[in-house]
Amino acid sequence: MAEQPTRPSPAFLRHMDDVVRESVAAAAPDFTVDATYQGRDEVWQAVARRVDEARGDLEFVVRDLHANPEEAFQEHHAQQVLAELLEKRVFDVERGAHGVETALRAEWASDDYDVARHPTVAVLAEYDALPGIGHACGHNVIAASGLGGFLGAVGSGSGRVVFLGTPAEEGHSGKEYMIRGGMLDGVDCAVMIHPFSYDLVSHAWTGRRTLTGTFTGVAAHASMQPYMGRNALDAATLAYQAMGLLRQQMPPSDRLHAIISEGGARASIIPEQATLQIYVRSLYTDTLMDLSQRVEDILRGAAMMTGTAVDIAWDTHPMSLPVRNNEALATRFGATQQALGRDVLPGGILPDSQAASTDFGNVSHLVPGIHPMVKIAPEGTALHTTSFADAAITDAALKGAYDSAVGLGQVVADILNDADLLAAAREEFEAAGGAVAVDKLLES
Ligand SMILES: [Zn+2]
Ligand SMILES: [Zn+2]
Repeated sequence: MAEQPTRPSPAFLRHMDDVVRESVAAAAPDFTVDATYQGRDEVWQAVARRVDEARGDLEFVVRDLHANPEEAFQEHHAQQVLAELLEKRVFDVERGAHGVETALRAEWASDDYDVARHPTVAVLAEYDALPGIGHACGHNVIAASGLGGFLGAVGSGSGRVVFLGTPAEEGHSGKEYMIRGGMLDGVDCAVMIHPFSYDLVSHAWTGRRTLTGTFTGVAAHASMQPYMGRNALDAATLAYQAMGLLRQQMPPSDRLHAIISEGGARASIIPEQATLQIYVRSLYTDTLMDLSQRVEDILRGAAMMTGTAVDIAWDTHPMSLPVRNNEALATRFGATQQALGRDVLPGGILPDSQAASTDFGNVSHLVPGIHPMVKIAPEGTALHTTSFADAAITDAALKGAYDSAVGLGQVVADILNDADLLAAAREEFEAAGGAVAVDKLLES
């Protein structure tokens, strides 16, 4: 009998690395744009100067949050650190903004700000960590970059810039709760970055739904009167296997994963209750809803086959939509990173199969938004690993936070100053289907 599991072969990862390397070599992207409004060079320099002045504080945020990781909805320390850094610059900070206790909000408006004429841009900052492995998603870098992007953009044109501290990204859709609390009311565009092992102006992010399927059967003595039972564990295993078979017929956009979290108490009792925890993901909203329906059918079919009852409970926390990248804004972010000497790549270089989910998807379906990636780790390092947590405190992480803060600040400054950019972002957003609110989507 084997004493150890066999190890998955890294062969596919090697092939994928080759593909990525070839695509990177062939990409040679050029995002440079001539100044699209008068005085842009000076505006960009001023943004960089303001981020530079805050550099010590940004590095402090990267280090301090990394040393004090807090899980979703528990981020009191991170909230306090960011609030104090804003308050010492005399911004009014609203803690618990938009109905989420560990959220925060600060804003700046130009003296001539006129809601009818000038845009409002939100800069988002995440700061939650993962259980056991701390900042293995690098949200400490996001917090610093978001703070720096906001501070850099302040004073850079006519309009309003909002800093939003958005907790509980990991598995809890914190942003959707804040959206329902009015976070995006009056907001024209939203920007943030995420650290990664490549510099990318955009990347694929799947939408995600979660569900719990609970089968209820009839308990019976498994030896004396098994025929008087209805076996809930049989239902759960049939459903589990049916999902395994479904995978062959799923389009490559989809992902489906499940565990049986409850399956009876004792082998001598026909299990009365069994529970499956399931994640459904897809790169598009409509395919996500299709897959959701297939999974529901499987659960109902398994119940029918076994004579059990099934309860299907969707989305303990709100679902996340796929990220709808705004190319106009993402291209501009690429220009800022190239100006800083970074080798930033267009979207599509990394295979879509390397996709996870984020609650920024919901933001990006309500306003034009970007969620580019900034390289802080060696190529190929995956998120949610101890290697990525280690990377999130290196010099590359500090530099990534700084460079992306400058980039976010400059994109915001351009939105305030360049009416054509805002118009292009809006037009692209409408062409992609316009605003889609998660709660409305589920009603229809
Ligand atoms: Zn994550
Ligand atoms: Zn993350």
